[in-house]
Amino acid sequence: MTLKIPQRSELWLFDCGEGTQHQFLRSNLKLSQIKKIFISHMHGDHIYGLPGLLASIGLAGCSSGIDLYGPEPLQSFINGSLYSSSSRLSYPIKFHKVEKSAAQKEILFEDDELQIKCAPLIHRIPSFAYRIDQKDRTGRFNIDKARELNIPAGPIYSSLQKGEKVTLEDGRVFSGKDFCGPPRPGLSMVYCTDTVFTESAIEISRGADLLIHESTFAHKESQMAYEKGHSTTTMAAQIAAEACVGQLVLTHFSPRYAPGNETSPNDLLNEAKAIFPNTLLAKDFLQIDIKQGCNSS
Ligand SMILES: [Zn+2]
Ligand SMILES: [Zn+2]
Repeated sequence: MTLKIPQRSELWLFDCGEGTQHQFLRSNLKLSQIKKIFISHMHGDHIYGLPGLLASIGLAGCSSGIDLYGPEPLQSFINGSLYSSSSRLSYPIKFHKVEKSAAQKEILFEDDELQIKCAPLIHRIPSFAYRIDQKDRTGRFNIDKARELNIPAGPIYSSLQKGEKVTLEDGRVFSGKDFCGPPRPGLSMVYCTDTVFTESAIEISRGADLLIHESTFAHKESQMAYEKGHSTTTMAAQIAAEACVGQLVLTHFSPRYAPGNETSPNDLLNEAKAIFPNTLLAKDFLQIDIKQGCNSS
């Protein structure tokens, strides 16, 4: 799963199964824009694509560095793979272990615009959910009003946009507040896989605009879901409902539900929708614009 952050031309990648880089090449996304990679846990379907992807980013050139977030063994897995294959990356990578942040509910990363948190999940091995919150944004800038008042475009517009006071060469004084609409709340998304139902997933998903949650099994397989540390459609939908998220996207389906089988992907979707109506099934190359409350229509 890739999060595109257009205002800074960055891509953040969540897990990296086999074939991820080939899917990248088939998309309109650029490998060189990947700046952060978040790994949920060390099962092969979430990490086997990573050494190859990192090597390809190196060959493509022009990466200034990548931050890797994940469980502790991630560092030895990557360093071991690179060392054993005599690969050397042409850019720096920095590892960030997430266990402590998850246990102590500390912020994993923060800057002026965004904040990242993580939380422990319940799976056969340590597994972690990630939440990205955009901070509240200033209101929309009324460019027409600025033009009507013959305020020269350029740096003055960006000062007004930040709500600052400006004095023009002709002596007129303007306050940015008069040109901006009400502040816009930031957007948020949560990535939650692999896990069985856990309160911790509800907690980290609370009020998020978009929740991406695994749903390996159909409702009737809940016994197997508990045994294998995975979720059913019902569990994922309950997390979404209890956390009051805007939209739920289900992913990580067992191959037993491929179209044509007794239980089809559409059956999975209907099971979840019965509990949380604003649900979609993930598929390759699905694009979603995260919106406030994220009502897909
Ligand atoms: Zn797993
Ligand atoms: Zn998995």
